Amino acid sequence: MTDIELLRDRLDAVRSGIADAARQAGRDPRAITTIVVTKFHPAQLVRELHRLGVRDFGENRHQEAQTKAAELRDLDLIWHFIGQLQSKKARQVRSYARVIHSLDRASVVDALASNAVSIDCFVQLNLTDDDARGGVRDAELERLTERVLSTPGLSLLGVMAVAPVDDDPRAAFARVRAASDLVMRIAPTARFISAGMSGDYREAILEGATHLRIGTAITGNRPAAG
Ligand SMILES: *Cc1c(COP(=O)(O)O)cnc(C)c1O
Repeated sequence: MTDIELLRDRLDAVRSGIADAARQAGRDPRAITTIVVTKFHPAQLVRELHRLGVRDFGENRHQEAQTKAAELRDLDLIWHFIGQLQSKKARQVRSYARVIHSLDRASVVDALASNAVSIDCFVQLNLTDDDARGGVRDAELERLTERVLSTPGLSLLGVMAVAPVDDDPRAAFARVRAASDLVMRIAPTARFISAGMSGDYREAILEGATHLRIGTAITGNRPAAG
């Protein structure tokens, strides 16, 4: 098999996995957005995925994302920024990303304030005990949500989270769903949930995820960080 055939096979396998989980959850798979995470991979892989019909792509490092977006300007792509953001760089992300999934600090929210067209965003919840991980604690979620709502230039889509590696993903995503319910009490339209990666997207779908961020299950293993 050629690389492109392998890629198509993995993409098809994930698409049918998503359809199966959606059916099991009684949900419409067309209401689920699959973002292919291409971090560490060359721009060429994005081109190949675009040829296979993928439009939504995720990157977690600003420098790499900015370079790739510039290199692929000729394609109709939707870039999702999914990594930790520094407030110094936050503003620049607005120039290429359509969606930011990782708002987790007031300083980043403030840095993104703008009178320009609003950018879609998620507030990120930290499901681990590790403060170095991105995301806010449950207790801080409401306050950060309110800050996003009162900041011009940000349009809140909902809640994002990464399941802890050594936990039951279904239980972790149930916590995300509860957090989403809380956010919707103060922002009724912020009903989207960004959750689910290669190893746990089925569980995420069962708990209501609307935006899946899937890397290796589609791209194959990532090359070493460059
Ligand atoms: C890398 C990454 C993913 C994709 O992970 P895979 O296990 O390769 O599917 C999803 N979300 C975030 C925040 C990531 O950094």
